[in-house]
Amino acid sequence: MTQPVFRFAPSPNGHLHIGHALSALLNARASVALEGRFLVRVEDIDQTRCTPELERDMFEDLAWLGVPLDEPRLRQSEAFPEYRKALERLQDMGLVYPAYLTRAEIRRFVSEHEADGATWPKDPDGAPLYPGDTAVLSDAERQARAESDAPFALRLNMKKALERVGGPLSWQEAGAEGSALFDAPKEIAADPGAWGDLVLARKETPTSYHLSVVVDDARQGITDVLRGQDLYHATSVHRLLQDLLGLPAPRYRHHRLVLGEDGRKLSKSNGDTSLRSLREAGMSHQDLRRKIGL
Ligand code: GLU
Repeated sequence: MTQPVFRFAPSPNGHLHIGHALSALLNARASVALEGRFLVRVEDIDQTRCTPELERDMFEDLAWLGVPLDEPRLRQSEAFPEYRKALERLQDMGLVYPAYLTRAEIRRFVSEHEADGATWPKDPDGAPLYPGDTAVLSDAERQARAESDAPFALRLNMKKALERVGGPLSWQEAGAEGSALFDAPKEIAADPGAWGDLVLARKETPTSYHLSVVVDDARQGITDVLRGQDLYHATSVHRLLQDLLGLPAPRYRHHRLVLGEDGRKLSKSNGDTSLRSLREAGMSHQDLRRKIGL
């Protein structure tokens, strides 16, 4: 059997909170139990919000948690040429197009459409599916934007991408947290079409989360993706991109989320649940493990 490889892939755009601690510790525990490797990936493609100081703090927090990380570390901001190559492959297949509608224009289109009681389809995260430039802009306006310096997103033509794949996609989802590690995975049917024409890159940013995550999981040889339940539906997109780009599919397992007192998902703006503030308030890493049920 090949040695399992796990990863923890945080974005240093804020301080790590207890939800990240759960993910890092579950990965560490699984890699120890299966005698695997545990790699870290710094997801810092958003160069305006991710900073070297936050990255340094992140590694300090992980050291305090006692998470053993193997080398090498991968930093996404150093891998832009890799993502560009993957994007070019999709472009060569004729699956990518520049899309000029701004977020405000999409919002306006959707609210006008829904004004008389109709509903516009939303993706699994609740964002409206891209209506297409022709639904909103005149031919002249589209032409003018294409010839000007207007911002654009490079989107995947979902219909063509699904035609190219030609058949159903699925992934292996391993059992719940309490069950034996990665035993008896279930085959889950992927539904990438639910995401519509998703963004692969933007004029100023040569990649997106979805594109870089599949490229990097392959580059790092990840065999087992253990991450939060909030990314469950994103797995459909990842399977589609892996198939189009000829990349291997890891096994997946999505773990419970640590919710805030208000029952909502934690975010990096929940200052009081950041590992730093808990540590400064005197919490030990053993207390923290108990708090998150480990
Ligand atoms: N960077 C993502 C996050 O911080 C995790 C990505 C993944 O595990 O696929 O939520």
